[in-house]
Amino acid sequence: MDLRNVIVIGTGPAGLTAAIYAARAELKPLVIEGLQAGGQLTITTDVENFPGFPEGIMGPELMDNMRKQAARFGTEFVSGDATKVDLSERPFKVWVGDDEYRAKTVIISTGAKARLLGLESELRLMGRGVSACATCDGFFYKDKEIVVVGGGDSAMEEATFLTRFGKRVRVVHRRDELRASKIMQERALKNAKIEFIWNAVPEDILDGGTGAVTGLRLRDTQSGESYDIECDGVFMAIGHTPNTQIFEGQIDLNKAGYINAVNTRTNIEGVFACGDVQDTVYKQAVTAAGSGCQAALEAEKLLEEEGE
Ligand code: NAP
Repeated sequence: MDLRNVIVIGTGPAGLTAAIYAARAELKPLVIEGLQAGGQLTITTDVENFPGFPEGIMGPELMDNMRKQAARFGTEFVSGDATKVDLSERPFKVWVGDDEYRAKTVIISTGAKARLLGLESELRLMGRGVSACATCDGFFYKDKEIVVVGGGDSAMEEATFLTRFGKRVRVVHRRDELRASKIMQERALKNAKIEFIWNAVPEDILDGGTGAVTGLRLRDTQSGESYDIECDGVFMAIGHTPNTQIFEGQIDLNKAGYINAVNTRTNIEGVFACGDVQDTVYKQAVTAAGSGCQAALEAEKLLEEEGE
């Protein structure tokens, strides 16, 4: 079986930047693409804060460019999710279904995914009025009543984007103060199509027996009282969970499940982590890309020290 210098798991900005650097260092990286190849930016609209694109760029196009750039220098891609790893000894092993791959170093860049509320109705009605991706599903809500749950940048971004389609967008937030950055808050607050419902948490998503969302049962966090509002779509924007399930018990994770890494080095020599999977603070495409570069340079340095 082929022993690779480096396997990169994940193809968001972190993984693809790591691949570009590792490929240009002639390490011939093997990249496991993941089922959501390109990561979270593939479900984003305009990216206005990635340097080098003064007019902004669409998320999927940015990721496509990064992939092409990695491929140009000889990166090899395997499609599908990494389903199992063995990081207990070197060479490390990574499986995609029944296919096993071995490598001297592994760069983990599996990112994070949208968090859900945990309501039974949320899963039952997913795709039938419940969504975690405005870019993917906004189009289906032309002239409809839309609710966005959350008070961070994602919620503001999604609410603002959804005003392109909806008759009205109501943001439901569990406090009376937003977590979002000033610029995103202001954009949403001055948008005439956006209204805010403060101090409220969804208790249930209602379908009136139709099998599609008809409303939301909210609980007022101040009074404790429940009340219903009507809506056609509910978009969850309450943060993210790191994709670290397959690494549990094998690598040092923090309480929230993110990989503990210092300058992308994990507690296992030869295993590096970059991007959102280890970032509890910045979570930006550009910081992910930056840490992907770091991880590749760290892997290269280690292999060199080991005489490769
Ligand atoms: P976030 O900043 O963690 O915000 C999550 C929001 O959801 C918070 O307002 C939180 O309420 C609320 N929430 C969490 N769990 C909840 C629950 N169970 N029920 C009800 N509400 C709940 O996540 P995010 O908005 O996804 O942003 C993540 C990171 O990405 C941030 O660093 C953000 O700046 C960045 N980001 C940037 C952009 C941009 O610049 N274009 C766009 C999107 C995201 P509390 O406030 O009460 O905790």
